[in-house]
Amino acid sequence: MIKILDKHVADKIAAGEVIDRPVSIIKELIENALDADATSVTVEIRNGGKSYIRVTDNGCGIPADEVELAFKRHATSKITAAEDLDAIATLGFRGEALASICAVARVELITKTADAKSGRRVVIEGSDVLENSAIGCPDGTTITVRDLFYNVPARNKFLASDSSETRRIVDMVSRIALSYGDVKFNLINGNNKVFSTRGNGNILNNIINIFGNDMGRDLLPVEASSKDFIIKGFVSSPASSAPSRNKQIFCVNGRVVSSNILEKALDDAYKEKLFHGRFPIAFLFLAMPPEKLDVNVHPTKKEIRFDDPYEVSDFVARAVKDALTVKESVPQIRHENIKMQHVEASKPKDDGYQYTFNETPAEIKEIKPEPKLELREEHELDINKILSTMRKDVESKVDEPSTLTAEIPSAFPFSFDDLIIKGSVFNTYIIAQDDENFYLIDQHAAHERVFYERLLKQYNSETKAKQTLLIPVNFNVSAQVSALEETWLDKISSIGYDIEYFGNNTYLVREIPAFMDLEEAEGFLNDMFRELEDKPDLTNKRTLERIITKSCKSAVKGGDHLSEEEIASLMKDLKACINPFSCPHGRPTFIRMTKYEIEKLFKRV
Ligand code: ADP
Ligand code: MG
Repeated sequence: MIKILDKHVADKIAAGEVIDRPVSIIKELIENALDADATSVTVEIRNGGKSYIRVTDNGCGIPADEVELAFKRHATSKITAAEDLDAIATLGFRGEALASICAVARVELITKTADAKSGRRVVIEGSDVLENSAIGCPDGTTITVRDLFYNVPARNKFLASDSSETRRIVDMVSRIALSYGDVKFNLINGNNKVFSTRGNGNILNNIINIFGNDMGRDLLPVEASSKDFIIKGFVSSPASSAPSRNKQIFCVNGRVVSSNILEKALDDAYKEKLFHGRFPIAFLFLAMPPEKLDVNVHPTKKEIRFDDPYEVSDFVARAVKDALTVKESVPQIRHENIKMQHVEASKPKDDGYQYTFNETPAEIKEIKPEPKLELREEHELDINKILSTMRKDVESKVDEPSTLTAEIPSAFPFSFDDLIIKGSVFNTYIIAQDDENFYLIDQHAAHERVFYERLLKQYNSETKAKQTLLIPVNFNVSAQVSALEETWLDKISSIGYDIEYFGNNTYLVREIPAFMDLEEAEGFLNDMFRELEDKPDLTNKRTLERIITKSCKSAVKGGDHLSEEEIASLMKDLKACINPFSCPHGRPTFIRMTKYEIEKLFKRV
């Protein structure tokens, strides 16, 4: 039953429901539909929602005698007492969304409860009820909002272009549709379907229906549980990252949230697996005891606070890391990404002249597969597609909602023990296979990974495994670097070097880390010093990390022929790594091609 909240309660609620743009109206209307237990919600927009928004649901409807009350400020059927605020289970509860929308747009409500014989149609402008009459309609509620800000033209100028308002709407409805996988969503822009979901709770199908088939292709399933947490969802394999966080969607207890903690957990899981400026794609659904989190009573309700952020981020990071230690996470060469070059010999032109060939014409002179590592740029929500459909004939019929389905991508645990080494090519790439996959391993990247992890281990351990040099090595540094000695000297010592000042901007190295050979040790130090010239202050952890990863690169030599034993020992070392699939800079150590893809190339399948 809709009641007006008493003032005391109303005041306690974070006030100021601001309808600033179409997307905020749509969000409120969808939340109302979900609160009304709708299992199907259709959102239609025109002109980025500025001229027209219609949200139709099949929820409980509003009883005839309450339809006008629904539009009154602080009218809500959802809470009555201030205490309820803590235990609020519904989405909207401020009792002012409809009132606020009416204040800035022309609103029409058509609604019917299941037990009513007919529905009601209410037309409201401002606080005037222009119409309230009986109407035949299906159960549920349709709210149409026209001409946003018709009465406050000044607010119009704060709106963005139609396309950018559309983009916001598509983004928001996508998120909600994903988080409410059991609810059927349709989003229609003008006369065109943007997406529709089936409401059958299949997360992957929803992802594909919302973001397209390509998106689904490289996703890896995440699934884990502990005493307090359950996580489900999908993340991108490291080879198919995105240029922004745009495609990271987190739902906690069924609610789309933004959370630095979860973003950070994700970053942790992909640490060193991605290049700088690339972000994982993630659709993660976390369930946890509600008493362990605080969804604040803020109008947008997006921020979430965890009582124990570390517990949550550990759990999420571990679950995602596990999801990534599968074969499918190794960048894959796909048949369709390989350019087959069929070089055709020129045919005699039919121009009356005879051309002679020096060579016998061959139909296919050369087949040069050029395997290209697939590092696809992920597209933003395909706004161009949306825009081009917007421009289409407005008279065209709305598509029947058709939806896509997909199998959950398979994910097989990767094991080094399954690898059979077959040799190497170009003195650079190790060839290996397991049952279903062919692998190339970049010897240099692999070595770099091994080197880097050993270095970090040494850096973090109490005792340093060192070896004494027969003849100490001199390093000459700039005056500036030696002047800032205290910021870097202990760092270098922590790696396992024994280094001391020898006067005249010269340092003497007597001992080097045990795991390095002299050449590596010198290469690493040389590079450190070169980097220190630019940034002599290593107290910043970031700088230190960056310099260390950079210096690893040059320390490790590549392109040498490795003997069978050397390959075996490199693979053994790589196996011992925490993160064997990429070098410290995020370049892959492994790439993979399935037997099936190879068979496709040979047209066997
Ligand atoms: P709130 O959602 O905070 O209660 P609103 O202004 O959004 O406030 O809605 C006011 C009331 O109108 C709701 O409490 C609910 O009873 C009713 N209502 C709004 N939208 C719907 C809907 N789609 N289906 C059923 N009831 C609705
Ligand atoms: Mg509401």
